[in-house]
Amino acid sequence: MEKGKLYIVATPIGNLEDITYRAIHILETVDMIVAEDTRHTLKLLNHYHITKHMISYHRHSDKTKVEEIIAKLKEGKHIALVSDAGTPGICDPGEEMIRRSIEEGIQVVPIPGACAFVNALVCSGLDTETFLFLGFLPLNKKNRKQKLEQIQNSNHTTILYEAPHKLQTTLKDLQTIVGNRSIVIARELTKIHEEFIRGSIEEIIEKTTNIKGEMIIIIEKNTENETQKNTQQISLEEQYAYYEKQGLQKKEIIKTIAKERNVPKNEIYMYFNSKG
Ligand code: SAM
Repeated sequence: MEKGKLYIVATPIGNLEDITYRAIHILETVDMIVAEDTRHTLKLLNHYHITKHMISYHRHSDKTKVEEIIAKLKEGKHIALVSDAGTPGICDPGEEMIRRSIEEGIQVVPIPGACAFVNALVCSGLDTETFLFLGFLPLNKKNRKQKLEQIQNSNHTTILYEAPHKLQTTLKDLQTIVGNRSIVIARELTKIHEEFIRGSIEEIIEKTTNIKGEMIIIIEKNTENETQKNTQQISLEEQYAYYEKQGLQKKEIIKTIAKERNVPKNEIYMYFNSKG
């Protein structure tokens, strides 16, 4: 018997019109929809006059639920997987079902559409060339600190999801470990109160004391590391000349170079002394 296909269907993150024709067509034609919250998805289906058998699959579903769905796919049923908002598998259930489908030789088909962080990033005005998506920060103290340090060192724009009641705590943690960098809060995307709040972490802490709604934090990359990387790609002489041009004295130049290259001051001092 030919196996069914598992369609990973992106749904709107607020505005119900943000869904593709193909996604609607797939939701209309599959044998069933697997939804994170069937009541939530019903609103979307009603809006598009789609009547379809739905079953729920959420983060607390046990493994037997995945196996039931796999069995249906093996029987030849075509299934659409949707989450409450955006793309399934992105901070939403889906990963395990997709992994098991691949193991069973079931075709997994992406149906592209909204994903909150992509839209937050592109409208943030921060560097989009490379980025680090970390989802929600862990609550466990040690893991959280590790992630915050990763952000501190990252040469890429970082994106975090956050709940409104935890925003102030997270911003204060960022301020402590990452420093006072530029950040953007992307709030209520595609909804009536859509808003981008831009500024330094310190300013944003003040501006967001009573903030509500769904939100994403986008954090500027560590530009200090970049200067360090750039200076390390040039010769010691070029680096010396660069700081000399900026008006620094020999002692300061040697100290700066040593710091940027993470080597003892003495080593740099000896190098230039040996050159005379
Ligand atoms: N699967 C979703 C996606 O593709 O983006 C993400 C689901 S995750 C459980 C929910 C988080 O996504 C929210 O806490 C918020 O950080 C972010 N989010 C979802 N919709 C949003 C919106 N309309 N505006 C801002 N952030 C949103």
